[in-house]
Amino acid sequence: MSRVLIVEDNVDNYELVRFLLGRAGYETRWAHNGGEGILMANAEKPDLILMDLSMPETDGWTATKSLKSDPETKHIPIVALTAHILPGDRKRALQAGCDGYLSKPMNIALFVETVANLIAKADTKSKHRPKIKPQGDRA
Ligand code: MN
Repeated sequence: MSRVLIVEDNVDNYELVRFLLGRAGYETRWAHNGGEGILMANAEKPDLILMDLSMPETDGWTATKSLKSDPETKHIPIVALTAHILPGDRKRALQAGCDGYLSKPMNIALFVETVANLIAKADTKSKHRPKIKPQGDRA
């Protein structure tokens, strides 16, 4: 089962994302801010990180830059999930190292598809490829 680390300071946003990912078959963990996100990503090596951008203390841009400059965590795909819709915000998130960007309120189908695609892509690039899964596993 793929594991997703949700870095989010807002409990309602977290609950929604956790519900959607759980329903789609993902295991989730919660980091309440950027600093906790960095620590948990290092300790647990999730398959993907969902990153809120506006957070107190260590924000999502800072946390992403840190994770993407660390050889231990730079391979983990990061999707920015944010209410920021100002021009330049998307670019700023991608410049910080985010692999994807989704705005809130979110399109649920697009959200789940983006997560699945990025995990599959990272999986293909990984040196430690999982053994061939039984067919029909993901039907
Ligand atoms: Mn926030």
